Amino acid sequence: NRRYTLAAHPRGLPAPQDFRLETTPVPTPADGQVLLRTLYLSLDPYMRNLMAEVGPGYADPVPLGAPMVGGTVSRVVASRHPKFAAGELVLANAGWQDYALSDGADLLPLGDMAQPSLALGGLGMPGFTAHVGLLDIGQPRPGETVVVAAATGAVGAVVGQIAKLKGARVVGIVGGADKRRYAVEELGFDACIDRRDPQFAQQLAAACPAGIDVYFENVGGAVFDAVLPRLNVGARVPVCGFIAHYNEAAAPAGPDRLPQLVATLLQKRIRMQGFIILDHYGERFEAFRREMGEWVAAGRVKLREDRVDGLEQAPEAFIGLLQGRNFGKLVVRVAQD
Ligand code: NDP
Repeated sequence: NRRYTLAAHPRGLPAPQDFRLETTPVPTPADGQVLLRTLYLSLDPYMRNLMAEVGPGYADPVPLGAPMVGGTVSRVVASRHPKFAAGELVLANAGWQDYALSDGADLLPLGDMAQPSLALGGLGMPGFTAHVGLLDIGQPRPGETVVVAAATGAVGAVVGQIAKLKGARVVGIVGGADKRRYAVEELGFDACIDRRDPQFAQQLAAACPAGIDVYFENVGGAVFDAVLPRLNVGARVPVCGFIAHYNEAAAPAGPDRLPQLVATLLQKRIRMQGFIILDHYGERFEAFRREMGEWVAAGRVKLREDRVDGLEQAPEAFIGLLQGRNFGKLVVRVAQD
């Protein structure tokens, strides 16, 4: 059993040596347990927060020397659990390793899925995040302007496509020309802007002539600085993530922009609300899976996967995710289906 453990708390951007590849014996299930073989491992930005010495509050940090956590699509290879049979495909939390044990409590049977890895992307946690954040907090109305950054990523691509289905005008923000093209030509966004363009703020203003009604916050940083003055009276800002800051070791240099933020929220009666998707599972996740499954099957929502092959690629791919090198939902294929 190969596994990656946390070797050191990163300072700034994680480095390959912050992860350690170990080989351990394949564990044996006890009564009430199953043995899982990882087929696909999801790599997600939140993992950076769990590598820090002090956790983010919504989940426990990974202790030094412990396996890196992560969502997986896994195959039950041995079962001593009454509800699971060998051969079954499940959504699991096996982490960055070939094999893991589970008592079944955190497993979701996947049945026969044509592309099981989508259960880690648009049909799973990131898609659910987009759905809940956009519809509960963003509440886009037909004709309104919705802006989303990391717009070809796991969450952002779904946010933009659901907003289109709800009749909104959608402006994406991405890093790079190929992602821009994809957002407009494949995902059907009305416009898409490159956050690295020196004229980025002007281009955003030009792409949002009627201002911004919903800003789905995935990134923070310079993108948020450009968005803030364009927000309309009554705008809604679901705060999903702020990846531009995850690798910061210290508070950003001044000037202090908090007064400007608070003044804008107050004067424009803006609702800015954070959410953690873990709070929303249960029955609602099943309803989401059904609806999104229909949209995907009908071609109304497109899901792009950025797949890397082999567990040994996980650290580099994860470091790339934090720099925008992924194009679509990042998954590692650990073993053949
Ligand atoms: P993505 O697949 O979108 O990948 C991350 C993307 O972030 C990169 O591809 C890059 O896109 C963008 N990015 C990286 N660095 C920067 C930067 N410095 N400035 C601006 N953009 C940057 O990841 P996810 O869809 O999985 O996650 C998107 C956000 O949602 C994250 O902030 C994540 O933490 C958050 N999240 C929150 C959840 C919750 O419960 N609240 C649950 C799931 C995700 P590009 O190069 O195109 O700009």
